[in-house]
Amino acid sequence: MKKRAQGIPPDQIPEEEAWEAVKIVLEAPEEEIFIIGELEDSTFEPPEEVLGAQPCEICGEWVSIPYLRVLGNKKVCIDCAGYEEGFEKIFEK
Ligand SMILES: [Zn+2]
Repeated sequence: MKKRAQGIPPDQIPEEEAWEAVKIVLEAPEEEIFIIGELEDSTFEPPEEVLGAQPCEICGEWVSIPYLRVLGNKKVCIDCAGYEEGFEKIFEK
């Protein structure tokens, strides 16, 4: 988990180390990771823009703001921006 916090991509972390993090949850006692009880009525109302999304100005699909792309004077989704390669390619430097 420290390596992920340092920005090391998950595919560069040895599998054995990754499983150590998974085992923390898998091997935890049920009472440590779940709250089991009666459901209660809730008055929770989600905030207006939890993820900060906007509709693509071409196709109208809602897009999380970090994934919007600028095409001319429009903010558009990745597909409408014309990217043809895989999603990961966009983030390569
Ligand atoms: Zn679009």
